[in-house]
Amino acid sequence: MRVAAIVIAILLLAVPARWAISGRHGSKCGDCATRLVAQLRNSDDEDAGIVTFQQIGPNLRINLALKNLPPGQHAVYLHTNPVCAPPDFRSIGPHFNPDHKEHGTLNPYGHHNGDLPNILVRADRTADATFNVNSISLGTDYPNSIYRGESLVIHDLPDDLIDTPDGFAGKPIACGIVATAN
Ligand SMILES: [Zn+2]
Repeated sequence: MRVAAIVIAILLLAVPARWAISGRHGSKCGDCATRLVAQLRNSDDEDAGIVTFQQIGPNLRINLALKNLPPGQHAVYLHTNPVCAPPDFRSIGPHFNPDHKEHGTLNPYGHHNGDLPNILVRADRTADATFNVNSISLGTDYPNSIYRGESLVIHDLPDDLIDTPDGFAGKPIACGIVATAN
């Protein structure tokens, strides 16, 4: 009987704890868009592939399936403005930075929310990569959300991951506006 009482007591304690955890997730992501996409165009206005964004708990999974890009390493960022006009993509604005940090994922003072890892484009001009980040979300009411529409931008050179404002990543060479998946 004592064992049964202890088990019941544990269950009574455990159930509210589980509710509390799921409730916290519910308030964080109950209003999240489940999936957003960015269809990229390169500087020659060719199809440069697709990037998908999926909220999985506290992390945002970003999948890149790219093409028609120059081989080598390239920086990837989310920029503030949902404007992608080839060939120079001049209106993309600064890196997405609602937390008001500095540039670069190796920066000891923290990094722009929109700073993402470099990608390697293969000799056939394609690249595939997956990033899991927690500096960005899809929630509709969070400052770090890209739900309202930012732009996903590939740059000419790799990010050095530390130097403000842009890690010497050169000019933008491909861009896509983050939007609701069809
Ligand atoms: Zn940055």
